[in-house]
Amino acid sequence: MSTASGQRHAGRGRVIDLTDRRALADHEPADPAVIERAHRLKEAALLDFGIRDSAVASWLYAKCHHQIPTTAVPTAAVVASGDGTCLLLYNPGFFVALGIHGVKFVLYHEARHLIQRHLYVEEGLRTDPVFTLATEVTINHVVLTRLGRHELPRSEEDEKIGIDPRAVHRRYTEDLRAQGLSPLSYDEFVVTDLSVYGELKRMTNPPVPPPLCVHMDGDGVPMDPETVERVAQEVLGEVMRQALGGNEQARSELLDLAGRTEGGGDRLTRMWGNLGLAALRGETPRTRRVEWWKRWLVDTLASRLREGERLVYPKKLGAVLLALGHDPMLSRRGPERTKVVLVAIDTSGSMSDEVVEWLTTLVGQTEGVQTHWLSFDGQVMPFVPGERVLGGGGTNFQNVVDYAEGRLEVGGRAFDLTPDAVIMVTDGYAPHVTPADPDRWIWLITDGGDTWPETHRPPMACHRVTTGDR
Ligand SMILES: [Zn+2]
Repeated sequence: MSTASGQRHAGRGRVIDLTDRRALADHEPADPAVIERAHRLKEAALLDFGIRDSAVASWLYAKCHHQIPTTAVPTAAVVASGDGTCLLLYNPGFFVALGIHGVKFVLYHEARHLIQRHLYVEEGLRTDPVFTLATEVTINHVVLTRLGRHELPRSEEDEKIGIDPRAVHRRYTEDLRAQGLSPLSYDEFVVTDLSVYGELKRMTNPPVPPPLCVHMDGDGVPMDPETVERVAQEVLGEVMRQALGGNEQARSELLDLAGRTEGGGDRLTRMWGNLGLAALRGETPRTRRVEWWKRWLVDTLASRLREGERLVYPKKLGAVLLALGHDPMLSRRGPERTKVVLVAIDTSGSMSDEVVEWLTTLVGQTEGVQTHWLSFDGQVMPFVPGERVLGGGGTNFQNVVDYAEGRLEVGGRAFDLTPDAVIMVTDGYAPHVTPADPDRWIWLITDGGDTWPETHRPPMACHRVTTGDR
């Protein structure tokens, strides 16, 4: 199908350069409606990564400034091209058939491919088809685990997409038993990237599966080593910064990734050392267990932000831009593309700094999400995180509702955006309110507070916050 130079025979004998954005866009364009749906699925997946699933994938795609729907690839691929940029190519029909769960799986898989490429640079490893298989096994094991899935996504024809790590392990077990050797259990088998490789090497006949992933299709995807190096290093650096800043998701993902490269040699040990792994390992998390309300907020917020239907996409804009040869990513910066979260903090009662700090790491650093901060008591006061917020007397929720809905001016200015989600942090003691769109309101009620919003008519998302070691 493809040649070593990163060109791809794209049907009818044509060859297309996977780094030529114009050619990719022009290549047998898909139906604009399919492109639009695929685009929306991709955006939804990236938001989920940013908010709860994977800091690594979120940052990687933030660095892929060009994200192009094209029929020139059968599935999806991250391409690192010679001009120092990264591109995400995805087949729109493939994405639409997969649905959101499948798209997340594939995008996370592709992100991990680029990171793996960065971690294991040795030529001898890379040209070994057994290492290619080992890579697929470890990547899919991680993706399934982190996304909380038990099965690979399925195609329209109900075929599993990708290499099933458990199926490979079953074949390995049979092969070793037939040789009179003792196989490792699945959990031992998948411990590190190199343990999978080493164990597969013990087989008489390591399986050579059909190329399900574009990366397995020869050397078809351009992976300029300098670009891979730079982008992956930047991604890991950003994730480390988030992890050290208290983001638990980033921390666990990074510790897991570091653990998987155990035994990978001096280069990897040095790389992790330079990134600051020791500090991350040595740091005692402020809270040992992830509190349930945090988990609840992450999921609730993600579901509020994900509903694509709430966004107005100019019809066929993607297709028009493509036809004009414009970068479809330009539209990402338009105001209709960014999700708006308003966080309103009640300063009239006792407010834990820890909660505010945690909210800052949750919503303050997510790609594609714009966060506005508000403190309130009797008055409403926008603020910037880090500023000292002083509380006054009295509490008035209606002022916050009026401000969020654009009716109340503060300092001569009205809030002219429509928030996709409003997070209220309060003890709940004030006259009750009914916002115009109660579905977008999320109430975090502090200790000893009143959880009236959950029994209000209509009810609103509401959860009690517990802090400290309670
Ligand atoms: Zn793959």
